[in-house]
Amino acid sequence: MRSETRGACAAAAVVAGAAAMLVAAQAPVGYTDTPMQPDGRWRVHDGTRPQPMMVAPGPNAGFATAPADATVLLGPEVGLSAWQRVGGGAVTWQVDGGIAQTGRGTIETKATFGDVQLHVEFATPSEVKGDSQGRGNSGVYLAGAFEIQVLDSYNNPTYPDGQAAAMYGQFPPLVNASRPPGEWQAYDITFTAPRFSGDTLVQPAIVTVYHNGILVHHARPFWGPTAHRMIAPYTPASARGSIRLQDHQNPVRYRNIWVRQIQP
Ligand code: MG
Repeated sequence: MRSETRGACAAAAVVAGAAAMLVAAQAPVGYTDTPMQPDGRWRVHDGTRPQPMMVAPGPNAGFATAPADATVLLGPEVGLSAWQRVGGGAVTWQVDGGIAQTGRGTIETKATFGDVQLHVEFATPSEVKGDSQGRGNSGVYLAGAFEIQVLDSYNNPTYPDGQAAAMYGQFPPLVNASRPPGEWQAYDITFTAPRFSGDTLVQPAIVTVYHNGILVHHARPFWGPTAHRMIAPYTPASARGSIRLQDHQNPVRYRNIWVRQIQP
């Protein structure tokens, strides 16, 4: 091989190597073997779905103290007394001064709820570890069945229907309103539980979510209870249930959680 040809080959190899590194850094973040979602546009956890645009929230946006008629579920006075391990048993999460950190096992409120207004503040770890779904993963479940994802989605590509504030496995948020890792963030959620006539669904669960004061879901229906790699069918059990905080083996902190029940 002539020397200039060898040089060109070496340069091409460097370019190909750089491209491979870029691909390795950006992919894969989703699945290609999952079912299509009901509207036929994207697969469940589709990594090719457009990433929501990042929108920086305003300073202190989203934080809100409980109104007089709210039930405080986590705060300095009540700790985690309103919670249990899913299915029963004592909570093993650490709580100090109204700040709880995920521990072994997903927890749920002892009380069950239907339609609610829910405020939750959380922080993913300031020390960044892992990537995609392995970075700051937790979640807020409504009626024991419908997850609003908690994740460190600050410069952390993942499949868009699994990023922070996603209706997990179903809809990405309208925009990515995430704050940097370690900073406190807030969700304000209005949830309408699904309605059934006997075993027949007559109205799906509907959710409106603000992430750090920014609208990310506007009265959006769930296709079914949250599931991984599939769309699960509705069952009447999802008409009412506990509020849950997911333990996904990542240390995520929570504070200032309160709920207001909405009478239908
Ligand atoms: Mg989660």
